[in-house]
Amino acid sequence: MGLFSKDIKTLDDLFLHGLQDIYYAENQIIKSLPKMIENATNAQLKKGFETHLAETENQVKRLEQVFELLQSEAKGKKCPAIDGILSEGDEVMGEVADAQVLDVAIVAAAQAVEHYEMTRYGALIAWASELGRADCAAVLKKNLAEEKATDQKMTAMAERRVNPTAAPSNRARTRKTAQARPRRTAKKSKRTPAKSARRRA
Ligand code: FE
Ligand code: FE
Ligand code: FE
Repeated sequence: MGLFSKDIKTLDDLFLHGLQDIYYAENQIIKSLPKMIENATNAQLKKGFETHLAETENQVKRLEQVFELLQSEAKGKKCPAIDGILSEGDEVMGEVADAQVLDVAIVAAAQAVEHYEMTRYGALIAWASELGRADCAAVLKKNLAEEKATDQKMTAMAERRVNPTAAPSNRARTRKTAQARPRRTAKKSKRTPAKSARRRA
């Protein structure tokens, strides 16, 4: 993009630009996932990343289908957002010493990636529909569904397995007390001053 020219003039241009952005992002994710697989110690987490790596390779192929539908060359455009998210994840992986905590950190880093992808696919699908390109939208929706499913899997893992402080029994107890406590405190704060005043009188 030149300094004095604005290359994106129409929604079609914006759509193509967004497609190149996510194409670049997916390819960077393919390069980063092996390190996350290597660093993850939880077997389920490792397997989840392996599955998503295979899905991501297929997502790139789907994006190439969309480029083809648009009769455009499949090419990436540098996405500073995904570069930042991935390098931050890489950085934190190098800073965590404890294996279980590392898993927790990796899950959070992975979810940042999935959420970025979800916002991009969400926008692209909306633009494709607006441009009357239901054919492109249908392909993009398949990628979005995989990102959402991966994000949900990560959330479940963070709550149930990877996070050692969130064992199911603990969570149930925490939920109970969290619900019961505010009511009790509310009653107390209303009644106690009056009661103690009566007692004093
Ligand atoms: Fe993806
Ligand atoms: Fe981007
Ligand atoms: Fe993804």
